[in-house]
Amino acid sequence: MTRDSRWWGTIPRIAAALVVASAISYWIGWMPFPSQGRSTVVLVGIDALGWDFLDKAPTPNLDRLVARGVRAERMIPIFPTKTFPNFYSIATGLYAEHHGIVANNMYDPEFDARFSLGDRDAVTDGRWWGGEPIWVTAEKQGLATAAFFWPGTEAPIQGVRPTYWKPYDGGVPNRERVAQVLSWLDLPEHERPSLVTLYFSDVDAATHDHGLDGPEVQAAIRGVDEMIGLLIAGLEERGLAERVNVIVTSDHGMADTEPHRMIIVDDYIDLAAVTVVDWNPVLAVIPRERMEAAVYEALSEAMHLSVYRKAEIPDRFHYRDHRRIPPIVAVAAEGWSISSRSFYEERPGRYGGANHGYDNELLSMGATFIAAGPAFKQGAVVPPFENVHVYELLCQVLGLRPAPNDGSLEAVRGVLRE
Ligand SMILES: [Zn+2]
Repeated sequence: MTRDSRWWGTIPRIAAALVVASAISYWIGWMPFPSQGRSTVVLVGIDALGWDFLDKAPTPNLDRLVARGVRAERMIPIFPTKTFPNFYSIATGLYAEHHGIVANNMYDPEFDARFSLGDRDAVTDGRWWGGEPIWVTAEKQGLATAAFFWPGTEAPIQGVRPTYWKPYDGGVPNRERVAQVLSWLDLPEHERPSLVTLYFSDVDAATHDHGLDGPEVQAAIRGVDEMIGLLIAGLEERGLAERVNVIVTSDHGMADTEPHRMIIVDDYIDLAAVTVVDWNPVLAVIPRERMEAAVYEALSEAMHLSVYRKAEIPDRFHYRDHRRIPPIVAVAAEGWSISSRSFYEERPGRYGGANHGYDNELLSMGATFIAAGPAFKQGAVVPPFENVHVYELLCQVLGLRPAPNDGSLEAVRGVLRE
């Protein structure tokens, strides 16, 4: 027998081994919906649910999910700790400077256009959304996806939207959102989404208005916990509780603010010398021509404010390499607010409550990560990790080839079942 024919002779044995291996992985439950042979993930985003918020109110349903699954001590958000940049980092595995959603309010010098959360035309315009979010990765590789809200899902990105998606409407009751998610999972196999996103804004609204502690915030936390309960009960009724992976994330935590902890920008610079693209607590400033040095010097006089020229923004923020990051960026200290004199004097009450957007290393900005289901460990708590790793994790669980990104599966492998 020649060497060549011996080599070829091993092929059938390799093929047989692969068949056995895939049969084993099927039976140990790594692939729910047996006839489909794919995992299913429900990705929940609870806006502003800080890593320690489960201690603020009774959360029996989230507690059960933790007991059944794995949680991170906390999840570290990207800078700036704002909603759109962070939920889009969770979706893409990219820092803001790479996915381009560098703030909730932005100016793009190439488009000569502004972006803000409430601007329907901007939010649904695919050119603002860089990188490849998980639903696009999934759709490109043949999986259906569905979104009951997630930043980016309303725009065609690389020409792709989720198979099922909803235009953002904060007025849609949470119950309706959960019911729709469960209906999507009831679809016949060839129409059923493998990835479903679900978003709740209540905790963000309550903390902005009332601060970290108080009955309103407790009510909001209990309310979203109840929705997690509805979701789990719906999965149980369908016999899916042990087959669907549920991942609960948040974008950032919150820090209390006070109306007297103010940085008034026009105490330092003439507002006519600049365009302010975003205000609070990250000030994004485009100085008029030849004014940059003067504006930088003057702003640097302010207390409780870290002022950076674009090239000098600290590496750890991963926040330099994008044309939408303006020449001067200033970050308020934890719990401080930035305003113009006139805006503040008209509505000082606006600066009570709590806020986010600050340095992403602050404990108060830490976010939540909880996951339960066939892919995840049971009863484990893992050390803090950055949210840019979640995209790789989602790709692993869904069996997808990831697009290039800033995260790594190694950083989060500890949450996966062996
Ligand atoms: Zn948020």
